[in-house]
Amino acid sequence: MKIENKALREAYNLLEKATPLGSADCGSVCSAVCCGDTLGDSMELFPYEKDMFESLDGFTVTDGETPLVKCNGSCARCERPLACRIYPLFPLIVEEDGKEKIRVIYDPRATAACPLVKQKARLDRRFTRAVRRAGKYLLRDEKSAEHLRKTSEFLKELIELEMKLGI
Ligand code: SF4
Ligand code: SF4
Repeated sequence: MKIENKALREAYNLLEKATPLGSADCGSVCSAVCCGDTLGDSMELFPYEKDMFESLDGFTVTDGETPLVKCNGSCARCERPLACRIYPLFPLIVEEDGKEKIRVIYDPRATAACPLVKQKARLDRRFTRAVRRAGKYLLRDEKSAEHLRKTSEFLKELIELEMKLGI
């Protein structure tokens, strides 16, 4: 898969092999629920991914403010989009001392489906580190940084709402 944008390419490479539980396959405990109608139905595409997935067999891209891609429930590992590579985490942008930093969090959108999130499981450090480093690379690219900022704001609001509702 050819990835023109450097930041996205670095993010893909970092998350090529890193997985939530390291050498253990977390999909074997939940029958890979996130590849069904949870994530596989509507993965958010990061900037530069739309063109890549429009031309890939097994994927359908939906246009919109944030393009989405739908898969058919299985894929070649090297072809999975970034949303799948970082799931169930997200590299949230936070402001600290006037600077933007990456804080890796469980993606609140994954809470309902992913048992690792429900159990607040301790994930493989290499995976968490890879998500953080991927976030840092994305921050160096204007379009990707903007996407991260927008999604981070949305996730912060979601987390706040969940706290208010006691979820
Ligand atoms: S839902 Fe969570 S535990 Fe299951 S395969 Fe996806 S990331 Fe792994
Ligand atoms: S693209 Fe691959 S990893 Fe992502 S949801 Fe579909 S089957 Fe799962």
